[in-house]
Amino acid sequence: MQIGVLGGGQLGRMLALAGYPLGLRFRFLDPVAEAPAGQVAGLVVGDYADETVLERFAEGLELITYEFENVPVGAVTWLAERLSVYPPPAALEVAQDRLAEKTFFQGLGIPTPLFYAVQTHNDLLDGLERTGYPALLKTRRLGYDGKGQKLLRSQADVEPAWAQLGGQPLILEAFVPFERELSILSVRSRSGQVAFYPLVENHHTGGILRKSLAPAPATPARLQHEAESMAFRVMEKLDYVGVLAIELFEVEGTLWANEMAPRVHNSGHWTIEGAETSQFENHLRAVLGWPLGATEARGHSAMLNLIGQRPNTARVLEIPGAHLHWYGKAVRPGRKVGHITLRAAALDDLEAGLKKLEAVLAETPAAAPLTD
Ligand code: AMP
Repeated sequence: MQIGVLGGGQLGRMLALAGYPLGLRFRFLDPVAEAPAGQVAGLVVGDYADETVLERFAEGLELITYEFENVPVGAVTWLAERLSVYPPPAALEVAQDRLAEKTFFQGLGIPTPLFYAVQTHNDLLDGLERTGYPALLKTRRLGYDGKGQKLLRSQADVEPAWAQLGGQPLILEAFVPFERELSILSVRSRSGQVAFYPLVENHHTGGILRKSLAPAPATPARLQHEAESMAFRVMEKLDYVGVLAIELFEVEGTLWANEMAPRVHNSGHWTIEGAETSQFENHLRAVLGWPLGATEARGHSAMLNLIGQRPNTARVLEIPGAHLHWYGKAVRPGRKVGHITLRAAALDDLEAGLKKLEAVLAETPAAAPLTD
């Protein structure tokens, strides 16, 4: 049985690696010939918008899924007219537009930061009257890892931000004074079965996820239920199939939704070693209509992204409980090239391991050349 995957990045690569034990085969579509998934599975290189490419990609596939949420909706709809595509294209449409996404959350009674649609300079000034400072001005589309957004601390920041971002559809958001950032990964299968992973605590630097702790330490069951209820409402409304990630802010003991990703997610990488069933395996089980696997955590995990640096493999592996994943990418500044998951039975051991790991990472200069 061959599964087609739109996007051939590390998420796709890890999907394929999770699918082989289940007897699955994969074909990826990516515009870039060096896409990481191409090292472990068949890769069609071409433009998502090119119908001859889509036809060649789709030939003989069982079904199609995606690992990249900025695939043109038109391409996904075209494919969905010919064979099954999961998650549904409607989920992609909502997730690609920050305004549609926040409006969708609001319609389901899910709290979000105060937001305001900005098309013109006047809209921006009107919006700022409501949000006050600080506020964030973001592009509605194609923003990720903190790209395409400007923090407005005071009036002095308004004109420079407008000069940089104005002229495209934007959204203004009140800055949320959150205590921490969390995410909930959930999964819904073709049969309607649902499962939820424990909440994850996420730490960002420069807008990029740097570290995840799972299960999120010191998290009351009430917060877990709240997050599950949000994810459930989103999945039911969209008749969702597959893994869904929702990024959340914890504000005075309540949860607000920031954004959702209709795919496997970086904050779920810990599940490969740290949960009974990984997010990648559960995504495949869901899209194939197979029973979902248990989502319980096995002990405590910390996942560290390797961003623009390539630490010595042996130095990492000598740390007890460390699991290293390289994505087969050349090292460049700011680029996610791999991750390490540390797993321990006790939180104290996890913290000790994290100290050792941070020390090893500090030994490695950033953006060192690829050596092997
Ligand atoms: P995003 O691209 O929307 O996920 O934003 C990237 C990061 O910016 C988030 O993970 C937060 O750390 C921060 N951020 C985004 N929106 C807000 C907000 N409204 N208030 C405070 N911080 C935010």
